[in-house]
Amino acid sequence: RAKERGRNHYRFYSSTMTSKASMLLKLENLLYQAIEQNELSLHYQPQLKLKNHKISGMEALLRWYHPELGQVSPAKLIPLVEKTDLIVPVSLWVLRTACQQNKTWQKAGLPPVTMGVNFSAKQFQQPNIVEMVSQVLGETNLDPQLLELEITETALMENIEFSQETLGELRQLGVKISLDDFGTGYSSLSYLQKFPVTTLKIDQSFIQSVQDTPPNTAIISAVIALGKSFNLRVIAEGVETLKQLELLQQLNCEEIQGYWFSRPLTPENATQFLSRV
Ligand code: C2E
Ligand code: MG
Ligand code: MG
Ligand code: MG
Repeated sequence: RAKERGRNHYRFYSSTMTSKASMLLKLENLLYQAIEQNELSLHYQPQLKLKNHKISGMEALLRWYHPELGQVSPAKLIPLVEKTDLIVPVSLWVLRTACQQNKTWQKAGLPPVTMGVNFSAKQFQQPNIVEMVSQVLGETNLDPQLLELEITETALMENIEFSQETLGELRQLGVKISLDDFGTGYSSLSYLQKFPVTTLKIDQSFIQSVQDTPPNTAIISAVIALGKSFNLRVIAEGVETLKQLELLQQLNCEEIQGYWFSRPLTPENATQFLSRV
């Protein structure tokens, strides 16, 4: 009986593996189609400068709407992209689309905004990342200063030498580098000095729990102070309520992003939003 159970177990295990592999293959095919059939899109979330009430930037956020699967969130989509050969075409598509959009805004005479583009650890670690960014900047003719790559500290810490070198080269192209979800990774301050970043994005978990856990206020003001002393742009992410906004103002936080100001917007709505201010 034990033998039988063993065999059953084995059969169960192997069929799970097969179905996982075939599911991945199916999704990979769907994703190829998605790119070809324009099922991928970017939404844009505005960032607000509190001092002058101007929009300082937009963050590009990936959306995939599949007719049968429905909306697939980037948190699910990106890991999938990383497991397939799609990492290069998807990274390129996102970067190109975001840069083209910003160039279109600039050409239309809208106020200059930085375009934040997210890169996962694996995307950042592609060997030709600098060439890719340089190629897209050339193609779109976007002012490099209006592109800001968003990477997490954790991603940078995976290969410190590579990160230092790559960030240096990206900075030489003139693009900005932002540390996304700041405070949730390994926040070794000595590395902050080694990585030539321009922006800190305070993770939304700190912002959203200010009411119930007062020590988070201390973390937020520490990050703001850190940003000031390194001369970095600091953005509070995930600001949802007036109360959170008021607290951030008290702490002299200069920029915010979150549902309180605006949800991520379709390209059309983002264009309208930029035109109104
Ligand atoms: P992230 O870069 O930290 O982006 C912020 C996320 O918080 C977005 O979720 C945004 O819609 C959401 N958000 C914005 N304001 C608020 C708020 O006030 N409250 C709450 N609860 N949420 C808010 P989204 O679009 O689902 O993206 C999730 C994550 O997926 C992103 O986190 C980013 O890490 C990743 N991602 C999104 N687009 C891309 C992409 O094009 N490439 C890569 N590699 N990753 C992406
Ligand atoms: Mg981000
Ligand atoms: Mg974030
Ligand atoms: Mg994130």
